[in-house]
Amino acid sequence: MSRYAEPMARLIEELKKLPGVGTKSAQRFAFHILRSSEGDAAALADAVRGLKASLCLCSICNNVTDVDPCAYCASPSRNQRLVCVVEEPTNIAAIERAKGSHGSYQGVYHVLHGTLSPLHGVGPDQLRASGLVGRVERGEVDEVILATSPTLEGEATANWLATALRSFPVKITRIATGVPAGSDIEYADEVTMARAMDGRREI
Ligand SMILES: [Zn+2]
Repeated sequence: MSRYAEPMARLIEELKKLPGVGTKSAQRFAFHILRSSEGDAAALADAVRGLKASLCLCSICNNVTDVDPCAYCASPSRNQRLVCVVEEPTNIAAIERAKGSHGSYQGVYHVLHGTLSPLHGVGPDQLRASGLVGRVERGEVDEVILATSPTLEGEATANWLATALRSFPVKITRIATGVPAGSDIEYADEVTMARAMDGRREI
């Protein structure tokens, strides 16, 4: 039997699901919320609810966004014909931080939400690639930069996409291996990432 009244035990159980939160921290958070004002507790509950309710995937590039199309796809100052393909929405931040010899990246993105991984049952159908293929097919893209990680899965994904897009009149480039082979671009520092983008080669 729980030492706490049911509503308190329930909140502690939910908080314990957060990464890095053990029983002690969960209890501390729960009691803090209990002591806080009605308004603060409601604001926290609303923020949690609103996160799922108001975020969606951009209908053009699959980035996580609260407005559709996302800020990149809707930007008149970005080159909408230059598309950088990444595995996850978090990879965009790494590329945005990178300042290469030509300044920062001014194109847009396409998020696959994963990589090909036959071992884990992820085939081409599980990747969100059709939007990108459609853009290329309609002649809306001049260059596709394949910025998947230089891991086995990332390379396989880049090769598969390059093959799928080969028959269209579009330049296909792969980021240079400034990003250490086998590592995730998520952890590339900004200088490394900038070199990888600057040194990209047509494939
Ligand atoms: Zn977008």
